[in-house]
Order: sequence, then structure tokens, then C-alpha cells
Amino acid sequence: MDEPVNDSFDYDLICIGSGPAGQRGAVQAAKLGRRVAIVERHARVGGICLATGTIPSKTFREAVLAAFATTHADGATNQQRNRPSAAQLLARVEDVIAVEGSIIANQLMRNGVDILCGDATFVDPHRLRVTADGVSREVTAENILIASGTMAVPPPGVASDGECVITSDEIGNLTRLPRTLAVVGAGVIGIEYASMFAALGVNVTVIDKRDRPLEFIDSEIVDELVHQMRKRNVSFRFGEAVDRLETSDTPKRAVLHLESGKRIVSDMALFSVGRIGATASLALQNAGVPVDDRGRIAVDAEFRTAVPHIFAGGDVIGYPSLAATSSEQGRLAACHALGIPVAPMALHFPIGIYSVPEISMVGLTENALTKARVPYEVGIARYREIARGQILGDDSGFFKMLFHREDRRLLGVHIIGTGATELIHIGQAVIGLGAGLDYFLSTVFNYPTLAECYKVAALNAANKLAM
Ligand SMILES: Cc1cc2nc3c(=O)[nH]c(=O)nc-3n(C[C@H](O)[C@H](O)[C@H](O)COP(=O)(O)OP(=O)(O)OC[C@H]3O[C@@H](n4cnc5c(N)ncnc54)[C@H](O)[C@@H]3O)c2cc1C
Repeated sequence: MDEPVNDSFDYDLICIGSGPAGQRGAVQAAKLGRRVAIVERHARVGGICLATGTIPSKTFREAVLAAFATTHADGATNQQRNRPSAAQLLARVEDVIAVEGSIIANQLMRNGVDILCGDATFVDPHRLRVTADGVSREVTAENILIASGTMAVPPPGVASDGECVITSDEIGNLTRLPRTLAVVGAGVIGIEYASMFAALGVNVTVIDKRDRPLEFIDSEIVDELVHQMRKRNVSFRFGEAVDRLETSDTPKRAVLHLESGKRIVSDMALFSVGRIGATASLALQNAGVPVDDRGRIAVDAEFRTAVPHIFAGGDVIGYPSLAATSSEQGRLAACHALGIPVAPMALHFPIGIYSVPEISMVGLTENALTKARVPYEVGIARYREIARGQILGDDSGFFKMLFHREDRRLLGVHIIGTGATELIHIGQAVIGLGAGLDYFLSTVFNYPTLAECYKVAALNAANKLAM
């Protein structure tokens, strides 16, 4: 495609960061025939998503589940089980990172995206300094997309040592699995890892200031998750804050002192207390882009910052901070930067939590509907009543749909159990298309599948509506 080229700049678009937002933004601009570069400080492209985030954590989970399935196949109990080693679990993670990394690098190369390896800092609103191994060069761009992501908030007082005190960034380097683990922070990342380690037979304690985890998730679903995790020896300390952290030698242990005076001693402490925007090293003051107290950048509906030719997308702009939404934000930002008309992102995106068991939701919760005084009816299905649930051996899965009482539109779907993060997309499509109860009542799904839950829950809601 022949596009107007502004020769006064080296590039039409430079993306800072090669995670989902930077990648998608760069590929979109390249497909439009523009001159594009990505600046990435790590040798491997893919962002936090590939290095320490989504891909390694979900591969780790699959490795845990595979080990769990194998060790339980002969009827062995938790105590009898031969736990896999950290090296065995992480070998699979390394393989997947390597393959995915080369697929991403290939895609960028095929599309003619230049990769500038180094640390980016703004010199002025159109000029970046890229520094690698002490050597700097300057590059200019008509438009810049900041897709620098986030960094884990470090543990208080004691630096993570990758062994006894860690953040999720260090899981990939573990040389041993702990016998006991304290997880500080019951957000998505903390809960995911707590449940994975518990599935490996590790005794886990979760500590959080809040009264319950995952506040944005349906409360019945969270209750079921907490119940399942307790069955795997997870203890929860809700409404408790960590006052200070120490480590002890021989044996090496993490010692957490809680504000309530309690002391929790464990082989390892995983701090998962949030992430801050990775903006401190960008010298954004030289470009005139403000950040908030968590390093995040505010953008408008077109992902434009306070400086009209500088855009931001992905985790650095905050909620929802998911890989798929970051990707889409990057693509839309590139279109807006290049003046290409584009439809906004659909309102309803799914949220997946890869705990054991997994959770997924789309649309509104009962809490939100109650607060907004929307009249709704609930339809429930339980995996133990579904043939596929029995075949899979999942008898605790729980499935809930919320329908508008008057126009019967589907308003929300909430699932905990096997396949939840895949199953959710049927509900997402129905919500997106504005359909509801009558669609499910007249639809036939494959049998035996978990999708049958949609039919069963719809019939349950229809029966209640007919009362
Ligand atoms: C443990 C964990 C598990 C997760 N699991 C999921 C999940 O299951 N599903 C999901 O949807 N999301 C998940 N996420 C979130 C997901 O990883 C992020 O939403 C996604 O990676 C954000 O993409 P991004 O493009 O904003 O940037 P990132 O992926 O954060 O990448 C940013 C890149 O910018 C680079 N960079 C930063 N500053 C500079 C600079 N000054 N110069 C050069 N390069 C720079 C960094 O090196 C990095 O490579 C998880 C996150 C974590 C931490």
C-alpha cells in the first residue's frame, strides 16, 4: 500500500515494548504500509506476557495439572504422591517460551517491523534515545505508542532473592518447590499461584487485607473456589496485613509478621501485591506525558495521551490489564495514530482466572445488577448433573447465567470448573449479539459436552420465570 511518508521522521510509528499491545500496534501499522519499529529492552520479544506473565504461568499450570493427573491415576493420595521437581515443571515452561518467542519474532520480521534492542527514554516528544550495553542512538517518529507494561511491586523491606522471597517474576527460576508457601495478596496472580502450588501438595497460606479475594467475581463462585482450595490445605488469613518481613537462616525461611501480631513462617513467601506502570525510566517529563501515582498513563477513547501524537495501550493504562485487551488496545491505538477509522472494542470481554479449578465470567454480576436495580433471574447448572462433567470426573463445577426478567436478554455468565475459560465464549457471543433465554431454549448443543450447561441453566431460569 502506498502511503504518504513524512520524511522528517525515521518512522511513522515507534512502539515502546514488545508485549501484546506493542506487537499488535506494530503489526497493524506495518500492514497499513507504514514504517514501524519496536524498542524492547529484553533480548527476546514478547513482553512480560511471554517472559514472566501469561504464557509461563499458564504453561506452569498445565504442567501441574498433568503431574496431578498422572500421580492420581493409580489412586495415590496427596501424601503418597511423587511430586514433580521444579526443574521438571519448568522445563515445559522454557520450551513454550522459546517456541512462542520465535513465532512472535518471525511475525514481526515478516511484516518488516524493525526491532531496536535497548532501553527507550524520551529526549523530546518525537525523539527517543535507545541505549543498549552503554551505547546510545536516537530515533524519531511521527507517532509513538507507549506499551511498556507494568512491574511487580517489590516485597516490603527484604528484596526478593528468587529462593525464599519471590514475586511472580521469579517463579520461572525456581530451583526447588517449597513444602510451605505464604502468598501475600489474594488478587488474580496470587490466587492462581496459590491454587497451583496447593495442587502440588504444598501447604499454602494466603494473606490479604481484604475480607475476600477477587472482589469483582460472583460471590458464589468465589465461595466455591475458597472451599476447593481449603480442601487442598490452603489456609486463608483475610482482613490481615503484613507488618514486616524477615528471613531466617539455617533453615532458610521467610517470616511474616502480621499487624495482628501473628507470625507466619514458611519455606517461601510469594509477594503478589499489585503491579505499577513501567514508566519510571521513560523520562516522560521530556515528552510532557503525565503519569499517576502508580506509574499509569491516562488516555482518551482513542488511546491518545495528553500529547496528541503519543498513544498508550496495554497494562500501562490500567484496567483491565489482560493480554487480549492489551493486544486490541495496541491495534486500535495504531489505527487512530495513522488516521484509519476503526470500531471501538466491544464492551463485554471475558475474564479468565486460571486457578485450580479455573474461573471465567462475562457481563454483569448479581451484585452489580442488584446495585443498578435491574430485575434478573438466575439459571444454574452443576457439572455433576451433566454427562460430560461425570466423564471428566469434575463434580464440583458450577455454572450460572443471569437473564433480564422482562426482555429475557442474557446479562452475565459465571463459571467455575473444567474448561470455564473456553466455555465462556458462547455466553460472550450471545451477550454481544443482544440475544438471551429464547436462543438457549431453542438451541441444541453437542452431547456430551460441558456446553450442555447452557441448556440446563436456561431451562432452570425459564422454570423460575414461569412460576
Ligand atoms: C503472572 C502473570 C500472569 C498473567 N496471566 C494472565 C492471563 O492468564 N491472561 C491474561 O489475559 N493476562 C494475564 N496477565 C497479564 C498480561 O500478561 C498482560 O496484560 C500483558 O502482558 C500486557 O501486555 P503489554 O503489551 O501491556 O506489555 P507487557 O507484556 O507488560 O510488555 C511490556 C514490554 O515493554 C518493555 N519495556 C518496558 N519499558 C521499556 C523501555 N523503557 N524500553 C524498552 N522496553 C521497555 C518490557 O521489557 C516488556 O517486554 C498475567 C500477568 C502476570 C504478571
